[in-house]
Amino acid sequence: MTDPSTGPRLRKALRGIPSYKPGRPAAAATDRPTYKLSSNENPFPPLPALTEAAHEASRVMNRYPDLTCGRLVGALSDRLDVPPGHFATGTGSVALLYHLLQATCEPGDEVMYAWRSFEAYPIAAQVAGATRIEVPLTTGARHDLTAMAAAITDRTRVVIVCTPNNPTGPVVTHQELAEFCARVPSDVLIVVDEAYLQFVRDPEAADGLALYREYPNVCVLRTFSKAYCLANFRVGYAIAHDPVAEALRVCTPPFAVSSVAEEAALAALACENELLEQVEVLVKERTRVAEGLRALGYDVPVTEANFSWVPLGADTQAFARACEEGGVVVRPFGDEGCRVSVGEPAANDLFLELAGRWAARAR
Ligand code: PMP
Repeated sequence: MTDPSTGPRLRKALRGIPSYKPGRPAAAATDRPTYKLSSNENPFPPLPALTEAAHEASRVMNRYPDLTCGRLVGALSDRLDVPPGHFATGTGSVALLYHLLQATCEPGDEVMYAWRSFEAYPIAAQVAGATRIEVPLTTGARHDLTAMAAAITDRTRVVIVCTPNNPTGPVVTHQELAEFCARVPSDVLIVVDEAYLQFVRDPEAADGLALYREYPNVCVLRTFSKAYCLANFRVGYAIAHDPVAEALRVCTPPFAVSSVAEEAALAALACENELLEQVEVLVKERTRVAEGLRALGYDVPVTEANFSWVPLGADTQAFARACEEGGVVVRPFGDEGCRVSVGEPAANDLFLELAGRWAARAR
């Protein structure tokens, strides 16, 4: 930032907050393929039904979209058996998270989440003027919901539970989350971030929607960016009771979801079976990558998402560089570890080969 003593005055709360850093794109094609495994995207090209729906909707790009995103909300409402009034749609689920904190936090209020978790949480909390309360993950890289419940104070306004947890992979179990919801005071909002829901295969995993039906202070966040192949179109939704849902709609800028994005999301719902077949391939690949890494000696936690966490300590940045030089872009986090998304089989083969070379060199 430039010298804050000159020019328009900015909120003090913004000082020192880093802007969100996206996963690096793959380098421009050279003599060999380069794979981007740094942003947990669906690696398969979009199905023709999605691109055709978007193309068709683009014919009305001179007109504003439907403010209420009514067709998509209607389709989700029927499918999930949730009243349309309990939905808010936004420019990706991350935007809805920002709006939720804007709707709930006064300066100095507390926003709690596990750490390490999704890197947008600390940014969104600080932008809202809130104090961050970061509760360390357990060994095994899981949420410690007992410690989180114990850390709630009179200033706690929001607790975010990311399941499966980005970037480490484990889910919280339904029993753990149900017990947690029973302990949290009813004036604290519990946000269950289910960005990777469709990749979950653990039968004991938390069901955020069931807890929303039971607890008026539970809000579920979901996205079309991952399993539904629409990261670029920015469609996310929240499910919450009133008055939270209504407050969200107040805080969301008008026309947050374009018709192009809405129609593509509707097309994705219409061909969900095909998309879920791709997800099934990715789930199998995730198991292969995680097991392959463990066989090489990496301490990879259980993962229920479309990525694996590779704890590397001081080697984190060097490992990421070595992967990139070998044609795979992964996501390094400080000196903790790298997150590697599940890609198409050839990308995963190459990544495992590079991880093998690294392990052999490190020995
Ligand atoms: N939550 C989690 C846990 C995520 O990992 C992501 C994307 N990386 C998001 C939310 C945001 O998804 P989007 O804004 O694309 O819907």
